[in-house]
Amino acid sequence: MSFSLTWLADVLRNAGLNVKTIDGWEGRGRGEVGEIMGVLCHHTAGPKNGNMPSLDIIIKGRPDLPGPLSQLGLGRDGTYFVIAAGRCNHAGKGNFKGITNGNANLIGIEAENTGLDNDSPWPAVQVDAYHRGVAAILKHIGRGSEFCAGHKEYAPGRKSDPTLDMVAFRSSVAAIMAGSADAAVVASTVEPEADSTE
Ligand SMILES: [Zn+2]
Repeated sequence: MSFSLTWLADVLRNAGLNVKTIDGWEGRGRGEVGEIMGVLCHHTAGPKNGNMPSLDIIIKGRPDLPGPLSQLGLGRDGTYFVIAAGRCNHAGKGNFKGITNGNANLIGIEAENTGLDNDSPWPAVQVDAYHRGVAAILKHIGRGSEFCAGHKEYAPGRKSDPTLDMVAFRSSVAAIMAGSADAAVVASTVEPEADSTE
């Protein structure tokens, strides 16, 4: 059985991004998503060391919140981990442009970062991949850069992630979507199709 976001891996690959699919991702989710209206950006608040040390928690969840916790993970090296094609517990209560059911209507990306001063600034290759991945997803769903929100904008007061400046983030996404952005920070590589649990 597959959920509907099975286009995610190819859309990211076709944008020249490094993509690793997590075994079983097509059928992973807390049921089906609704109409996808945008992207919600997060940071993991996970460990300082390693490329994507929060991956297992995103897949399985925590004692207080069952997984998957987002459709996508973004490692410090700019690699996208495709975790789920269904609904995920990433948004909670909030509101962005009238979208109040983020788990149903927004794709969640958990980028690995502690959210602390010890992890700032973020690696340029990771931020560049964040912009390019969001741009590719928004283009695929036919929405503009304004439909990319930070969790801290969706749930102000309750959430502070990501630590990135989301106004600047959306400007970068818009430039990529308009084709006026500089070349990618790191040249893309072609990955084999094999699944990975790395
Ligand atoms: Zn978040």
